[in-house]
Amino acid sequence: MIARVRRARRQDRRTFLGTLGVSTLALRGVAAAAGGQGVSAAAGKSWDVIVVGAGVFGAWTAWQLRAAGRSVLLVDQYGPANARASSGGESRVIRMSYGADETYTRFSWRSLAKWKAFFGDVGRPELFQRTGVLWMTKGEDANAAASLRALEASQIPHERLDERELRKRYPQIAVIDGGSAIFEPESGALLARRAVQAVVADAIRRGVEYQVAAVEPLAGEGRLEALRTAGGEPLRAGAFVLACGPWLAKVAPRALAGRIFPTRQPVFFFGVPKGDTRFSAPALPTWLDFGQGFYGMPDIEGRGLKVANDQHGPEFDPDTGERVPGADALAEARAFLEERFPGMRGAPLAEARVCQYENTSNGDFVIDRHPGYENVWLCGGGSGHGFKHGPAVGEYTAERVLKGDATDPRFTLASKQTIQKRSVH
Ligand SMILES: Cc1cc2nc3c(=O)[nH]c(=O)nc-3n(C[C@H](O)[C@H](O)[C@H](O)COP(=O)(O)OP(=O)(O)OC[C@H]3O[C@@H](n4cnc5c(N)ncnc54)[C@H](O)[C@@H]3O)c2cc1C
Repeated sequence: MIARVRRARRQDRRTFLGTLGVSTLALRGVAAAAGGQGVSAAAGKSWDVIVVGAGVFGAWTAWQLRAAGRSVLLVDQYGPANARASSGGESRVIRMSYGADETYTRFSWRSLAKWKAFFGDVGRPELFQRTGVLWMTKGEDANAAASLRALEASQIPHERLDERELRKRYPQIAVIDGGSAIFEPESGALLARRAVQAVVADAIRRGVEYQVAAVEPLAGEGRLEALRTAGGEPLRAGAFVLACGPWLAKVAPRALAGRIFPTRQPVFFFGVPKGDTRFSAPALPTWLDFGQGFYGMPDIEGRGLKVANDQHGPEFDPDTGERVPGADALAEARAFLEERFPGMRGAPLAEARVCQYENTSNGDFVIDRHPGYENVWLCGGGSGHGFKHGPAVGEYTAERVLKGDATDPRFTLASKQTIQKRSVH
């Protein structure tokens, strides 16, 4: 999220500084929606590729591998976009502004087109809400200037709004003195959990097999013949992709211990005043407040105005962590809400969730071959900004697996430092 752009600022200082399990019944529902295929009896079979993890990265990787004609088994321990997965939230921002980081601007633009085409194909256009994205900064910000250059270079529609224009267009926002913004009219919000489940259902419809199983950590080296499930079942394939999000270091500890650092990230939805449309699209777009580190969304589907802090929280275990937001985090979110959106003063908390970022030391994804296995690929490290890139990451990962060629230096394991200190920032 905002961390990507903040990273550009912080890089100079070289600091680090990033359910409900879906029941068998629900999975059968996904499979049934996809035409009755899906839950597979894996014993004795072998696939071209097994993808572990049905979050946004694994779902799109499996989808792409199948589109390339490969036999694919997709495995997940709790279910596609389950409530503990990083992809399991209601909504995720898709924006193009990334400071000077043109790679991600291009990835995001490509992904937006693919998300929209996909949702159109499966008859679910509502899973992308074109709310526009408003990136608020203070005055002449270097990252905003770099974002503008990148948007221009990639010919992505955008507007620069000065303080006066910002106040005129969005009277419900208490614009800071000297504030300005970039507005991206094509960007918006992805309805995350349902979007991933739609990708998995479509992948199954296209022939991907799906199984609920927990895969045991990798312990050997060389060429991997089979993964083992917690129940002792071997899952055989020619190649394997581990797209395990915040669990990646648990599944591939030798490669990733200390290199994926999950942090606790609460998200709040505040109830809007009755009969008031100021906090819904199109009056209010998806927004990011760069100075304060908060971001959020207008009231989508009546859930309330979303507010979240992009600062990394404490270390968090995705399996065992309790998902009750702390009183301090709620008080901070409410204080920000009431300052930036005065019409929301006194708004009740309508809903809250706790998710986790799966940070790498530099905020860049890991898409690389496992150093100990010639036929195992790692795909993760979304670092709080990965969701939007799902289609491009799936395409990129599938290509690496199929061609076996080198990955972009920024996505390599070697570019990720071990995070020694369990810091909060
Ligand atoms: C609060 C919050 C807000 C965010 N906001 C944004 C945003 O606005 N925009 C944006 O682009 N990104 C955002 N992100 C980041 C984005 O959601 C993540 O980067 C992305 O969802 C990561 O997807 P993933 O597929 O790598 O991991 P996950 O979604 O976590 O999927 C991993 C899957 O692997 C499975 N798995 C793990 N281990 C095993 C095993 N041993 N055996 C079998 N299965 C296993 C899990 O069950 C899980 O389903 C946000 C994240 C959070 C937490």
